[in-house]
Amino acid sequence: MVVVAALLAMVILVYHPSAYAWNSSPQITNSLDGSGNTVLTIQFDFSQMSDPPTASHHPTDFQVRTSTDGSSWTEQAVVHITSIPATTVFTVTYSLGKVTGDLQAQARLNCNVHGWSSWGPDPAVPVPEFPFGMVTVTSLLLLVGSLLLVRGKRLPYSS
Ligand SMILES: [Zn+2]
Repeated sequence: MVVVAALLAMVILVYHPSAYAWNSSPQITNSLDGSGNTVLTIQFDFSQMSDPPTASHHPTDFQVRTSTDGSSWTEQAVVHITSIPATTVFTVTYSLGKVTGDLQAQARLNCNVHGWSSWGPDPAVPVPEFPFGMVTVTSLLLLVGSLLLVRGKRLPYSS
């Protein structure tokens, strides 16, 4: 019985390599591009697999998932890594588009031998909504500033 269970476990591991638990230690930061899209910069660490990545053992894809409550997740499209990273720690970027509401984000990395890493970081990284309030204040300040400039330029003519 024990032997059967052990054989079963081996078979499951062979046919489902993603059952192998490994950690890609994702670190996620977010920024805005010029169009107001939220862009995630994700740093992965492949050292649990291969340092550095090689042709026979390397990351093939990464994926981002987002959540509003930290329990139900929306998996984003898998992104193929087109060239083997030269270093075991490397960064990728992923655009979430325009974010409405506060999100949390996690990422994972796919190894050509061992399959997907676990999702991380845990707890997930907060991704704030585009700060419309800040933009309004900044625009108002710019408007006031430009009005003052115009007035300043007019003064010599009016005197
Ligand atoms: Zn691996």
